[in-house]
Amino acid sequence: MNIRVAGFLDNSLVNGEGIRSVLFVSGCNHKCVGCHNEVMQDFNYGEDVSKEEILSRIKNNVPIIKGVTFSGGEPFEKAKALTELARSIKELELNIWCYTGYTFEEIFEGKDEDKINLLKSIDVLIDGKFDINLTEDAPKYAGSKNQRIIDVKASLMQKKVILK
Ligand code: SF4
Repeated sequence: MNIRVAGFLDNSLVNGEGIRSVLFVSGCNHKCVGCHNEVMQDFNYGEDVSKEEILSRIKNNVPIIKGVTFSGGEPFEKAKALTELARSIKELELNIWCYTGYTFEEIFEGKDEDKINLLKSIDVLIDGKFDINLTEDAPKYAGSKNQRIIDVKASLMQKKVILK
């Protein structure tokens, strides 16, 4: 299975806690004003990369990295493929953070099984569209103040958003 990939960072310190590999997927419909990755909104941007290739690149960074971050673009538009990838990443005992323009509630209360399955596969969700007017005092690792750093496992268990 291939995933349309816009970029990959082997080691990053700014996309979640600890040293992390970051996978940027192509395509996003949220159209946030001031988007930092505007070129990645295009679903055709980048190249098709197999799950095996992505996994091998991640494995090259073990044990330096603490986890993997999904970014983009909109990772939840690639929910099925990323859920499979997440399963393999978990076997490496790495945690998974994910950026999304959707809110936790939009995903959790929505009817899209693929998106819900991806949500269940990740540890920390940074949710909501980027708001250029709310960049001051944004939480660490978020772009704007409306975005939340969510403990997904605790939130799913308590059926409400629990911040990390
Ligand atoms: S959700 Fe992210 S990638 Fe999509 S438009 Fe907003 S800032 Fe850009």
